[in-house]
Amino acid sequence: MLDLSKPIEIAQSIYWVGHKVPDDPFQCHAYLIKDGGNSVLIDPGSMIVFPYVLEKITSLISLRDIKYVVFHHQDPDIVGCYSTLERIMPEREDRRIITHWRAYMLLKHFQWKTHFYFIDKSDWKLDTGSRLLTFVFTPYAHFPGAFCTYDEKTGVLFSSDIFGAISEKFMLYAEDDEEYFQGLELFHKHYMPSKPILLHTLKKIKEKNPIIIAPQHGSIITKELIPKVMSRLERLNCGLYLLADESDLMILNEVEVILNLFFENAILTAKLVDTLDILFRELKKYVTALKELTIVGYLSDGQKLVYTANEGGTKVETVNALLSLEASIETNLEAKGEKIGKLVISGDLTEKDRKFLGIISERLKSPLVSMLKKEILESEELNRLMKKATTDPLTGLYNRRVLFQQLKHYIKEHKKRKRPFCLAMLDIDFFKSINDQHGHLKGDKVLKELAQLLKANLRQTDCIVRYGGEEFAIVMPDTTLIHAYKKMDSIRKLIEETCFCNGELRLTVSIGVAEYEEGMKLSQLIEKADEHLYEAKALGRNRVVC
Ligand code: GH3
Ligand code: MG
Ligand code: MG
Repeated sequence: MLDLSKPIEIAQSIYWVGHKVPDDPFQCHAYLIKDGGNSVLIDPGSMIVFPYVLEKITSLISLRDIKYVVFHHQDPDIVGCYSTLERIMPEREDRRIITHWRAYMLLKHFQWKTHFYFIDKSDWKLDTGSRLLTFVFTPYAHFPGAFCTYDEKTGVLFSSDIFGAISEKFMLYAEDDEEYFQGLELFHKHYMPSKPILLHTLKKIKEKNPIIIAPQHGSIITKELIPKVMSRLERLNCGLYLLADESDLMILNEVEVILNLFFENAILTAKLVDTLDILFRELKKYVTALKELTIVGYLSDGQKLVYTANEGGTKVETVNALLSLEASIETNLEAKGEKIGKLVISGDLTEKDRKFLGIISERLKSPLVSMLKKEILESEELNRLMKKATTDPLTGLYNRRVLFQQLKHYIKEHKKRKRPFCLAMLDIDFFKSINDQHGHLKGDKVLKELAQLLKANLRQTDCIVRYGGEEFAIVMPDTTLIHAYKKMDSIRKLIEETCFCNGELRLTVSIGVAEYEEGMKLSQLIEKADEHLYEAKALGRNRVVC
């Protein structure tokens, strides 16, 4: 049990010197930093408690030792005793009242002799000679010039009205029980003007990372309870917002909170997919019916970049066709009149949800447009590079890089699902003599026309590669040897019957075909198709060997 009739040391040399007034749910605490001739008295209180406070102070120091008196603001429960105290304290020329100029504008009416020290004109700090006090400006919570005092030495934050509580039960130290939290919330609901002001205040205080919070009302909060107190207050609607429950003001306030988070994140990660993730999780706190957020970006080749965030997580993918999205709210994303994508919100939303999410969507439009535009450009640039790295410039066919990728892919598939596939190697017969007779430019034209012929007569799923000069490779998935043979022989015949270069010349090809067999290595499959190609050449050309 604490002996409340004596000063209570709450941190090294810092004392509670208040007095418990019986049957008063609104207790006022005074504190003293005992520091020899540099002692600091904090919010000494009114005449109701003065005799007790005085007794406690004088049990610790002589009144002359009081060099600083902090007045967090000018309410009577803070300054009520000072006219008396000033009269009985031995005079000191260097004694100062520590406060903000806004409080001074009112305090000057008391006509005290003590001089003032303005925290706002002193870089928000006071060096007492033996310790450093810093001040956290918390305007409008609840007085326009409100501030907190932080002792850098002990980590004690004298928070004045913030973290106060109204409670029937007296607790010098806050306890982790519902009664305490309700008293805390009750006080803030009525004394803090608005949620944005309270949030700003809490943010500023968090930056100090206090170890003990010593408010003027309610209970002293120790380190382990601070996070819980913070989070209870962060969720609280107060002041104006209490009167405005469910109204536009309330919605606007929530919008502000979400937008702040969005922008902070957008700047930090700069990745749309991460920002969408945060946005979804934050919106979900307000709109429980929210199912999914989707951003679609239109790429110039007709493909779409699709970002989705839902309970399962977030992903981004490039798709050809878009599955129909179940949209509750759809917002077009436009850059300079050009539609670059859309934001789709889905869920079983109420009227209020729609209004809220509608405002959010509108407000997010322009930042989303810039983020999306940037990612569309990056994605298109990447696609261009990919295409360049995988395409043969003369014929537009794939190059051998793609051949190896595809073969690896189908070998894997074969292992899993036993799906047959074949590889054909095709080589133009006596191509050298075509070059010799008609020139290299004609030779090039033949290669291009042959590539077109192959493209036009093979399946979409077949992969056609320019393997070397006048040699082509064709990967045929889901194809057995006999079918591959038939197909290649029809290609061979078609080439034989085709006139190239506007009817100027004709040619034939030789083709070797091999089917992939269990356990084969990639190189073994290529070697086998190659062997068959050489056999076709050796047997007189213009034929298919498998
Ligand atoms: P074979 O029937 O034995 O295959 O005889 P071939 O003349 O087709 O074979 P060879 O390998 O002796 O000659 C291939 C020729 O293909 C030689 C080369 O000049 C030509 N060639 C390779 N790449 C290109 C190209 O990009 N354009 C042109 N015009 N010719 C090329
Ligand atoms: Mg050849
Ligand atoms: Mg050759």
